[in-house]
Amino acid sequence: MIKTQHIIEVLEVLAPLNLQESYDNAGLIVGDPEMEATGVLLTLDVTEEIIDEAIDNGFNVIIAHHPIIFSGLKKINGKNMVERCVMKAIKNNIALYASHTNMDSVFGGVNSKIADKIGLQNQEILRPNYSKILKFTTFIPRTHIKEVTNALTENGFGHIGQYDCCSFTTEGIGQFRPLKGANPYIGTENKIESVEKIRFECLVRQSELTHFINTLKESHPYEEVAYDLVETQRKETTSGLGMVGTLSEPMDTNEFLQLLNKTFDIPVIKHSHVCKSKIEKVAVCGGSGVGFLNDAIRHNADIFITGDVKYHDFFNAENKIIIADIGHFESEQFTKEVFYEILTKKFPNFAVRMSSISSNAINYFIGEK
Ligand SMILES: [Zn+2]
Repeated sequence: MIKTQHIIEVLEVLAPLNLQESYDNAGLIVGDPEMEATGVLLTLDVTEEIIDEAIDNGFNVIIAHHPIIFSGLKKINGKNMVERCVMKAIKNNIALYASHTNMDSVFGGVNSKIADKIGLQNQEILRPNYSKILKFTTFIPRTHIKEVTNALTENGFGHIGQYDCCSFTTEGIGQFRPLKGANPYIGTENKIESVEKIRFECLVRQSELTHFINTLKESHPYEEVAYDLVETQRKETTSGLGMVGTLSEPMDTNEFLQLLNKTFDIPVIKHSHVCKSKIEKVAVCGGSGVGFLNDAIRHNADIFITGDVKYHDFFNAENKIIIADIGHFESEQFTKEVFYEILTKKFPNFAVRMSSISSNAINYFIGEK
């Protein structure tokens, strides 16, 4: 039996929810994770028509890119599309799950798919995530170095990538004077003591800091354990928003725009001044990604492809790059292929289907001149 939860787990191996942006609402929005799944429908957006499509197919799980609920609902009485979708899903026992900015932020996600469709090589994250890391330093008497480091090692502290128990030590002399009322392990009241010590440094995750300090204090012989913490940041190479890569060979700009037109089936591409005659390096960010323009410029991209670009944003190209707005829906339309590939690989005999309905809220009128 495949439960809703099993489907979610497979998607979250690639795109864990902790990678979503703070404003986002990705995750299981409606439905019971323990429910047996009868089939999965994949879409960019949830609409009433798409819920009907799931019902007609006998599917009870819908995986979407955009969360149907973004901010809280105070009343659910069907006065707008969001409320009607939620009501319809609950009435028909349909689970609604969204994999949104978390799926935008990983290799193999939304932006990799856009880059693959254009044929970009040497792909790298446009704006990598930075993770907060704490560098912990403490001082251990030489006589107790084994005891303390063993206690820390047993708990697997000091993670760096695929390694743990990573640490560095240097020798030195520590000095202290026990004051009145102290209960020193070494030394006597009001007398300065010098002790051979080891300076011990390792990285500690924020989530394990309390456990780390408790373990240190339990294994350390001193009444007062000296330590200091420095907060650092590490650039992640596998998560972050947008993607940048190169074409196998430079392309004439008009030819490249034609390629976009065909690949994304766009009736019109809005773009800034054509300041490059050839395109080789390409930055992409599906959806509303104009906030990443400076990252694209920093990467020396010739063109930045995204959606929802406002009039004044086009001026910010400053003849350094071409901004091309290919449309929000158009840029992310292949996201359901990402879901499809992940799920059919894991569940080859299970009913997984891409919705046949276009959820694009924008229509184009191409008039005659
Ligand atoms: Zn989007």
